[in-house]
Amino acid sequence: MNFNNCVVPEFPKEMIENAIIDNNLLTMEIEFTRACNLNCVYCYMDNNLFCESRECDLTREEFQNVIMQAKDLGVKTIVVLGGEPMLYPYISDMIKFIRKQDLYIEIFSNGINVTEFNARFLFEHDVTFVLKMNTFIEKLQDLISGKEGTYAQIQEAFKNLENAGYLKEKNLLGISSVICNQNIDEIVKLWQWARERKITPYFEIITPQGSARANNGLYINYKEMKDLFYIISNIDRGTYGYTWEPQPPLVGMKCLRHQYSCLVTSCGNVQPCVGVNIKAGNVKEKSLREIIKNSEVIQNLRNYRQTIKGHCGHCVNSDNCYGCRGTAYQLTGDYLASDPLCWKNAERENYIKSYVGRMQAKNRNKFAAKNYSNEEYLVKAKRGNYFL
Ligand code: SF4
Ligand code: SF4
Repeated sequence: MNFNNCVVPEFPKEMIENAIIDNNLLTMEIEFTRACNLNCVYCYMDNNLFCESRECDLTREEFQNVIMQAKDLGVKTIVVLGGEPMLYPYISDMIKFIRKQDLYIEIFSNGINVTEFNARFLFEHDVTFVLKMNTFIEKLQDLISGKEGTYAQIQEAFKNLENAGYLKEKNLLGISSVICNQNIDEIVKLWQWARERKITPYFEIITPQGSARANNGLYINYKEMKDLFYIISNIDRGTYGYTWEPQPPLVGMKCLRHQYSCLVTSCGNVQPCVGVNIKAGNVKEKSLREIIKNSEVIQNLRNYRQTIKGHCGHCVNSDNCYGCRGTAYQLTGDYLASDPLCWKNAERENYIKSYVGRMQAKNRNKFAAKNYSNEEYLVKAKRGNYFL
């Protein structure tokens, strides 16, 4: 899928607390493949650094084994990230396998391979399908995704999902968008478009890592972010009856996943999430249960109320928010630091700017040498003037 995907289902508080006490899981994110057909400018991975050989990837049997381990640990939902899940050659087998275990499945995809046939298959297997949709502007979508034809691909996938029944029943369709300088003026419209069709909007701010780190033309400032979250919250409450407290990094949702989830990468590494890309272990070497129980980083994040530092530790929202641990880790090197991009931490803006600036200077040569085609273009692009 190749973008920030940080959204997982929400669970009752008691269920989460029990999962923490018992060292269990409620969801598990998994990458069946890191291959992707796009080259999104905000991708949390550094697309140019993908492992080409894929020799280290888990086999089908190993993926199935880790899913069974997750089920034993209490997992209810498997969230499939990537890479692009619909490029994984055994995706339909894995969907059947997961459903056979009575587990729910969510797939985040850019719409490739969502043919009429595949859309019907997804619908019939009750797959929650979250389709990338950053903008209504064709040229901009192609630019953000790093590939001409992406907008058409997304529209085709949407049409096939709609024809398969996704808009009529089950409410299993979502759209995902990353908020950046280039699409911020369209976000409210996109949100309303989704709500009107009973599509779940999964919108989030950028986690500054991977490709996103090299493209400083993408970032919006604190005020724009805060205003946008409040505008959408008011619309959601007034028009659609959804009440939520605006808090980054997710619009209308909370990331509390560190209390009950983990990510298994295509080569079997277990890490807290896409943003906190610290290896806690590998399922080829140890059981998932052992890794969860004995990993310092996973345990520290599960017990974030005791471990988190700075303003996030004593914020009035700290019972229901720890900010984005990925952003904290990527920008400060400390996954327990306050989230530097929350508007409540705005006084740290100068520090963040200088840190991000240093990182970009460090990365510039690497990206230039690899001919990262969209970087220069997007850094120069100004909102409302992307048709350069
Ligand atoms: S901590 Fe941040 S990067 Fe990690 S899952 Fe939550 S929102 Fe995403
Ligand atoms: S300061 Fe931290 S805990 Fe408070 S709202 Fe912001 S991210 Fe959440």
